[in-house]
Amino acid sequence: MTNSGAAERVTTVVIGAGHAGLAASHFLSERSIDHVVLERGEVANSWRRERWDSLRLLTPNSQARLPGHPYAGPDPDGYMTMGEVIEFVEDFASVSCAPVRTGVEVTSVRRTGGEYHVTTSRGDFRSGTVVIASGACNRPAVPGFSDAVPASIEQLTTFDYRNPEQLDEGRVLVVGASATGAQLAAEIRRSGRPVTLSVGEHVRLPRTYRGRDVLWWMEASGLWDERYDEVEDLTRARRLPSPQLVGTPERSTLDLNALTDMGVDLVGRWAAIRDGRALFSGGLRNVFSLADLKMQRLLDNFDEWARINGHDAHLDAPERFAPTRVPESPLLQLDLERGEIRTVVWATGYRPDYTWLDVDVVDAKDQLRHDGGVVESPGLYALGLPVLRRRKSTFIHGIEDDAREVIDHLVEYLAGRRRPA
Ligand SMILES: Cc1cc2nc3c(=O)[nH]c(=O)nc-3n(C[C@H](O)[C@H](O)[C@H](O)COP(=O)(O)OP(=O)(O)OC[C@H]3O[C@@H](n4cnc5c(N)ncnc54)[C@H](O)[C@@H]3O)c2cc1C
Repeated sequence: MTNSGAAERVTTVVIGAGHAGLAASHFLSERSIDHVVLERGEVANSWRRERWDSLRLLTPNSQARLPGHPYAGPDPDGYMTMGEVIEFVEDFASVSCAPVRTGVEVTSVRRTGGEYHVTTSRGDFRSGTVVIASGACNRPAVPGFSDAVPASIEQLTTFDYRNPEQLDEGRVLVVGASATGAQLAAEIRRSGRPVTLSVGEHVRLPRTYRGRDVLWWMEASGLWDERYDEVEDLTRARRLPSPQLVGTPERSTLDLNALTDMGVDLVGRWAAIRDGRALFSGGLRNVFSLADLKMQRLLDNFDEWARINGHDAHLDAPERFAPTRVPESPLLQLDLERGEIRTVVWATGYRPDYTWLDVDVVDAKDQLRHDGGVVESPGLYALGLPVLRRRKSTFIHGIEDDAREVIDHLVEYLAGRRRPA
């Protein structure tokens, strides 16, 4: 198809063939709604192009579940490699016969005359409904002061980083200590390079608790099912950093104590650059205590749930973990012009990209305005965003419930359009 051809008509256009778009397609097919799934790259594109080499899922295989497509391998407690994730998502696309068109980039979505005009790199579409499943992590979020980092220091984001071999031999400053930053700090340190990790607010979790994966507890106790309209502070919940977890065959814990034991130097949150010096926040003690306290509270809740529901007999005894050790005298400043830091790796989070969306539904912080995936424009929907409908929304196993409900809403909307006024 070319741009000059007439627009193709479909009832629903789904944008993105990651697991969220494919789950939408699964439920659309189930409800016999004709649709296309437009994907700029290939199925599971983000897992193919935007992740580093050694990454494994931090969710265990038992939680690799898509609608009608559970994990069927021999190791429910293991963690998939990127190759395995790609295969799992591809299999889902193929068993659900998703009408995916790959290599089709959506460049604009507009609403005129009560329907959507979707312009792509390979032709146009008109549809009454659109599901945005283009991902929550399209671009690395890097602070503006990165512009002031001296040119002699190489800067990488998590989209550029593949493995330690691509780095200079000198010291690496990893910024951000959620799952990504903690994993990269550990890997780079293991390669022999000195590493400084800049730590802000973070979520500490042990890999296993009382003999079970900590994410098993999140699911079994119902915490992950908490709905968006029941969460106390939804804005905050949607911004929560990912927990310091790593998926390894040894099921090891990757908290700040483990990183200190490996020889990683901890500093506070990188707040600014002044006169060529990086300025880090003080108050590491408070930041660490808060993370320890929150972990403690969570484990107390797990214990309570196990006791009330009669699970104590099948689980190991409750455990408590040593507080996070505070470095004796953490650096508050670092002269970036001295040449000690050779590379900065920004692991400061991700943001979505809606530059192609020409409908007024994106706020000043680049977030879609929506209520549980029902976007503020008739017939426009979203999936795969943080705490979209539940705490588990962005995780692979979290998409089924969200996609079912969002597509139910879409079907109702279409029925309403067909009903005479
Ligand atoms: C580093 C990292 C580790 C993660 N680890 C886990 C984990 O262990 N377990 C877990 O459950 N979840 C994990 N997640 C979260 C989540 O599962 C992934 O982010 C997942 O890729 C999200 O799926 P999605 O379908 O919503 O988005 P994506 O997989 O990003 O899919 C969106 C698709 O839309 C396409 N697209 C975007 N814009 C356009 C456009 N304009 N036109 C056409 N196509 C477009 C993209 O190419 C992409 O294929 C992780 C996320 C990250 C970033």
